[in-house]
Amino acid sequence: MPNDNIDQAIPLDSFDPSGDGWEAMPLADVVAAGQAALASLQAFRLALHGCATPLNLKPTNDRIIEIEGQLKEQLSALEKARKVIETDTALAIGYPGKAPWIEETGGILSPKQILSMASRGKDVVASELTTYRAVVEALEPVPTLLARDRSIGFNAEGSTDWEDIAHRRTEQRYRLVQEILAEIESIDCSSCGAPAGSPCLTAAGGIAHLSHRPRQDAYKMPPEHQWVSTDVNRRPDNQALYPELRGKSWQEIREIVDSRQ
Ligand SMILES: [Zn+2]
Repeated sequence: MPNDNIDQAIPLDSFDPSGDGWEAMPLADVVAAGQAALASLQAFRLALHGCATPLNLKPTNDRIIEIEGQLKEQLSALEKARKVIETDTALAIGYPGKAPWIEETGGILSPKQILSMASRGKDVVASELTTYRAVVEALEPVPTLLARDRSIGFNAEGSTDWEDIAHRRTEQRYRLVQEILAEIESIDCSSCGAPAGSPCLTAAGGIAHLSHRPRQDAYKMPPEHQWVSTDVNRRPDNQALYPELRGKSWQEIREIVDSRQ
């Protein structure tokens, strides 16, 4: 479903201009800020080399070199992304088999991630999405890093409420686990006979902590959800995540968590 909110006139590198108090930063400016940071690091290292006070500065120097290397790697990925987005290069043609700004070190929002979102329930055929613009236009607005940070409690002043962030993350984790469990239990279990919508049962008739093999095998966990994989079970103490929820029934836990939204 094309997203009508995206105006063709909006530059590709700032398709989400809703700053919500933040200054909208075009990708070119982000790259420039990163390059300035790299130059500052290099200036820091030059200052160390000129330091007249006799200290063991080697560990500091080594650490800066290491950080410089990591920063260069990220900047190179961002710069590639900038070029592809600015020129609206066909993704598959320019970079066969690999999105240009997916790096092993991760962290940069990519069309590949967007396509992965598309594959989960969005009305999009991947082969139709040839350019970044096509990807963006075919989807609902994509959460930027900024939007994600906002959603977990950073604000425009840069201050943070860590307790609140931890709380939101726990809730996010809990809700995701519930969604995954519902997905796993959305088919009949051919092992214990539990019908779709019900958890697996033990031989004694209790709720099984883990879904049986046939259900587990039928469910494919998206890589971005792996972080909750250890919680995907019906073990009450493990599932509760909040100390005050321990020992409560599933229904009670669900009511408490839902009431917090
Ligand atoms: Zn079962």
